[in-house]
Amino acid sequence: MPLIPLPLHLFIHFSLAALIGYLVGRRFNRICLGIAFGIIGGFFIDLDHVLEYFLVYGFHFDLIYFLEGRQFLSSDKIHIWFHAWEYLPVLLLLSWFWRRQKAVLVILLALTAGAFVHLVSDCLINQYPPRNYSLIYRYMHDFSAQELLSPEQYQKYIRDRQYFGM
Ligand SMILES: [Zn+2]
Repeated sequence: MPLIPLPLHLFIHFSLAALIGYLVGRRFNRICLGIAFGIIGGFFIDLDHVLEYFLVYGFHFDLIYFLEGRQFLSSDKIHIWFHAWEYLPVLLLLSWFWRRQKAVLVILLALTAGAFVHLVSDCLINQYPPRNYSLIYRYMHDFSAQELLSPEQYQKYIRDRQYFGM
């Protein structure tokens, strides 16, 4: 249900992730490490969409179905396990424990910063309220698309479903 074309959405995620990773890495003189883990936290976080696909459809991967987001349409659920504010304080706490090991510190801080920027941009791009990116909030709503989406967004969801004959 993208409001901007998917390639642009992904490009925004990728560039912001690399940039924030670079900034974290530069601060600790570990630029490459910062960029690599900024990209993991801020771009590859979206791999939970692939995970969602496998959990719904099993191991019959169909790229077109995947890109159409059918894993969300047919299950009526939005889990997106990696998209959650709750991981951020946990990562920050871990980075405090490992603050003396610079490489680990850079890895954890770049992951945190990358994920944070990703979630903020997802809120803006997808026009979801920040609470939708809380795992606890989604759990409390049984991960139900109908409960998590706004009425307008859910109407669009239903239309997409009809469009695909689901
Ligand atoms: Zn995302």
